[in-house]
Amino acid sequence: MEIKAIRGFNDLLPDEIGKWHFVEETARQIFEEFGFSELRIPVIEKTELFSRGIGEATDIVEKEMYTFTDRSGNSLTLRPEATASMARAYLEHQMYSFDPVAKVYFIGPMFRYERPQKGRYRQFYQIDAEVFGVSNPMVDAEVIVMLIQFLKKVGLENLELQINSLGCRECRPRYREELKKYFATKTFQLCEDCQRRLQTNPLRIFDCKVETCKDAIADAPQVTDFLCQDCQKHFDKVKGYLQEMGLTYLLNPRMVRGLDYYTRTAFEVVSYNLGSQNAVAGGGRYDNLFQEIGGLDIPGIGFAIGMERLISLLPAEKTFLQNPQLFIAALGEETQMQAYRLLSQLHLQGIRAELDYEGKSLKSQMRRANKLNAQHVLILGGDELKRGKAVLRDMASKSQEEIPMGGLLDILKERINRD
Ligand SMILES: [Zn+2]
Ligand SMILES: [Zn+2]
Repeated sequence: MEIKAIRGFNDLLPDEIGKWHFVEETARQIFEEFGFSELRIPVIEKTELFSRGIGEATDIVEKEMYTFTDRSGNSLTLRPEATASMARAYLEHQMYSFDPVAKVYFIGPMFRYERPQKGRYRQFYQIDAEVFGVSNPMVDAEVIVMLIQFLKKVGLENLELQINSLGCRECRPRYREELKKYFATKTFQLCEDCQRRLQTNPLRIFDCKVETCKDAIADAPQVTDFLCQDCQKHFDKVKGYLQEMGLTYLLNPRMVRGLDYYTRTAFEVVSYNLGSQNAVAGGGRYDNLFQEIGGLDIPGIGFAIGMERLISLLPAEKTFLQNPQLFIAALGEETQMQAYRLLSQLHLQGIRAELDYEGKSLKSQMRRANKLNAQHVLILGGDELKRGKAVLRDMASKSQEEIPMGGLLDILKERINRD
């Protein structure tokens, strides 16, 4: 039996990896320009970090975590998201003792036991950015501006920023009660999951996709009507800073985000590319998370970008294939050593060069050079080589020139870098 990959776990093949590199490199570049540094977290954590950090009554913790017992009997979980681990690392290494403000990012795979479907995997990739230690609404705007800047830089268009405020420990409980009262009058409309959510976490009902639930949600009270004075002031300032940066946004009082730890600012970026509506990134403030995981009272805000979704929305005209800059077509046994020497020298000079290992005919080598989309082909052999010359063919213009074997490397470098 041939062994295959596990369902929901995906290989990223060389012909698509160029897009991933482009997105990752752009994220690193933009984030570092905004003063962020990478914080690399482990793949596995103690289960309680997520159950306490993300919240027991969330889909992630209830049914989507990859949790197992290791050989010493510890309950461990593959990280389903990055924020809780990043916060743990900040506390564990007392990063606040150097400077209370930490701006950190991470790019890597997350794991959730969800139903695999097109574009959704059990191992999926996220780009994550967090700011710890600042409650000032200025920083809320700062991370949103950075997110939009990044999404534009990778080429996404038709983006819509949606924002909301989810209140705080003071005002959210009042809203929760009001919501409970409201949905209690609609229980006959709620699906089984939502009836349970009504008891454990009524805000989660907003995430339900069942039609009758959506109808019930339509008339539900809005969180922004219940904000305390401080939360209202904070939200107004966030909006003011966004306006200052010329960002337009849509107020979406139905956006409550799936995780328990969010407080105050919540945001999503929706793309209307390809004629459909897709959330590409989301985030928010989580001023209670640190205390939930047993730490100090430290505010935080951040976002996560789903990479699979983002990559599916990249402009199609962009090509990311790492095609060879030069293909060496060597003819005859006696040119093999020359071809090998040249190939090695080109590699050491940082030029993507490729050759034919099979000793095939010129025609078949040219076919392969074409298939690999090589920019140039260098033909070694025939009468030209006897005259101390090689033939360089520019594959785009289809023009050819003879170049002398002496000083070949310098001429090749000059020709390749000219394009
Ligand atoms: Zn409040
Ligand atoms: Zn429902």
